Amino acid sequence: MQCKICQNPVQKAFEATILERYLEPFYKCERCGFLSASEVHWLSQAYTNAINASDTGIVARNLHLYKIVSVIACALFGFSKSVIGGGARTRLDSNPDSNPDSNATDSSSTSQGAHSRDTHSHSTHSPLLVDFGGGTGLLVRLLRDAGIEALWQDEYCENLFARGFEWDHHAKPTLLSSFEVFEHLPNPMEQISAMLTLCPNLLFSTELLPCPIPPHQGKEAWWYYGFAHGQHISFYARETLEYIARQQGVFLVSHNGLHLFSQRKISPFVFATLVRLAHRGAFWILKRLLGSKTLSDHQLLSPSSRPAPN
Ligand SMILES: [Zn+2]
Repeated sequence: MQCKICQNPVQKAFEATILERYLEPFYKCERCGFLSASEVHWLSQAYTNAINASDTGIVARNLHLYKIVSVIACALFGFSKSVIGGGARTRLDSNPDSNPDSNATDSSSTSQGAHSRDTHSHSTHSPLLVDFGGGTGLLVRLLRDAGIEALWQDEYCENLFARGFEWDHHAKPTLLSSFEVFEHLPNPMEQISAMLTLCPNLLFSTELLPCPIPPHQGKEAWWYYGFAHGQHISFYARETLEYIARQQGVFLVSHNGLHLFSQRKISPFVFATLVRLAHRGAFWILKRLLGSKTLSDHQLLSPSSRPAPN
């Protein structure tokens, strides 16, 4: 068997019990450090529910991530340029956290309601983030509330929180995000390559595989394996991500489980500093500058803002 990343011959590392019923081999590549299952015949059973019940960190993770994504999008990818440069702000800049319902009759709502659904038939001149594997849409909603133009994409999960803001494959993203997705990919090189072809800037998370690889069973078993739910099938070492970056012609920076593939070189120090500053005030400054989309999105999606049928 060959490594799914670098095509090097791999060795069986261990056998693990998946979904409490299948004993399956996992293979480790000594060249790039990648660890994965081979034949993943159980996926249809693993994805009876797209969000596995043991993912108790789903809300805390998104509340943590949206501030970091916002700061990185603005600092490295120009999402705040039109605002700082005097571009039009469309939304409740003075009161970004307002309840949409309580403001629906506000005098500002008439003109803003006429803004049309064009938030998503997106201007080619303004930056766009697409959240790949966006799950329930919670992150996209939080990003939009912060003022980031973000759209949702997911082939396997129902969009609950960002309805009306699905990516239609036409608008060209400036930045992709993809959180807790890489470890789910059965054909990672092909799927990551497709993402980078779409956009060479990809901010993502996955826990890096320690070296030597951690135990797969017993009290010391690595929590990230997740063999009980069976959705995690690909595990990346630092060397794996470096190999992918080289093959794809992009740069890589990482900090605390967050990684960025980028078209231009980003200083690791700058990346780490932005991640840290996101939770030390930088986010709140940016949010004031950007202006929340909470109310404008509400107006955009309200039946009263749609053109009357002929
Ligand atoms: Zn490999």
